[in-house]
Amino acid sequence: MNQYGRIYNFSAGPSMLPVPVLERCRDEMLNYRGTGMSVMEMSHRSKIFIEIARHTEELLRQVMAIPDNYKVLFMQGGASLQFAAVPINLRVNGKADYVRSGNFSTIASKEAAKFLTVQIAGSSEETSFDHTPLQEELTLDPGADYLHICMNNTIYGTKFPYIPKTGKVPLVADISSCVLSEPIDVSKFGLLYAGVQKNLAPAGMAIVIIREDLLHEPPENTPLMLNYKLTADKDSMYNTPNCWNIYVTGLVLEYLQSIGGVEEMARRNRKKAALLYDYLDQSHFYIAGARRDCRSMMNVIFRTDSPELDARFVAEAAEEGLVTLKGHRVLGGMRASIYNNMPYEGVERLVDYMQRFEKQHG
Ligand SMILES: *Cc1c(COP(=O)(O)O)cnc(C)c1O
Repeated sequence: MNQYGRIYNFSAGPSMLPVPVLERCRDEMLNYRGTGMSVMEMSHRSKIFIEIARHTEELLRQVMAIPDNYKVLFMQGGASLQFAAVPINLRVNGKADYVRSGNFSTIASKEAAKFLTVQIAGSSEETSFDHTPLQEELTLDPGADYLHICMNNTIYGTKFPYIPKTGKVPLVADISSCVLSEPIDVSKFGLLYAGVQKNLAPAGMAIVIIREDLLHEPPENTPLMLNYKLTADKDSMYNTPNCWNIYVTGLVLEYLQSIGGVEEMARRNRKKAALLYDYLDQSHFYIAGARRDCRSMMNVIFRTDSPELDARFVAEAAEEGLVTLKGHRVLGGMRASIYNNMPYEGVERLVDYMQRFEKQHG
């Protein structure tokens, strides 16, 4: 056990944060850099806070290599509010293509159907979302306002191993559960959005990265808080933003930069995922959930052949400080979310536990 008695939390989100970031929060909690107050208490219009927000945006631009013709927005309401914001703001012809590759992409498509005509461009529902559709399986409409995909399917443990080609149609991706886990070519997308509580920060904010030519005045009845153009024009401060979250996001990005950026993070993530998947693949006791060619590097789905053993696995793991391994209720079994801030040692401990459990029950 480490000095703070911290355990390994495999939750799908909110998830672990780096200890050095939590220590910084602690140290700056009561008196942020001589201001005599906490970031939680500051006016969002103060010079000091505007500098914090500018710094966070600048770091995100550097770390993700976001091109200059993209705006970065900090919005509230999590990723789920973006399910509505995207169709409201990107609607031109009134129809959009959606790929259904899991739970969140299905919700996103149903939410969008309230605002425009949704066309299902591809789906893996028939095989219980065990994979993401291939490019040649997609039916794309060149007149669609955009194609929406969910890059990493948090519940089903799959990801798109490729970036769909859409011609002139803007590609929109929900990257909530894989943001900053590996390099991504932002210029291939019209819009990217992510709730920050998986790989980045506490819950309560979404980051939106939007190509400038897609920013236009939405319909007049658009709620203020869903208006991308207004949010961009006001530097994400039309109203009081989630100041604390913007601050912590900046600290996590600084930490990420200090360890070597997204490239180094991707190397670590690949190593963690390989340790777990290699073990699953040689085991005759555990069954991995997702199709091999599109396995997620962040959410690893597995089970035994008995729901009773699964329950026991989860309960006994918790006694060892390996918590939140229960699979999503729609799938059962187990899910180990091994996001950016899950240390390698956490996965080693998990695999060691899995080996012992297999020996005992296999
Ligand atoms: C967690 C998650 C969401 C929902 O995020 P909220 O911030 O809770 O709304 C949406 N999409 C994906 C891919 C997620 O992992």
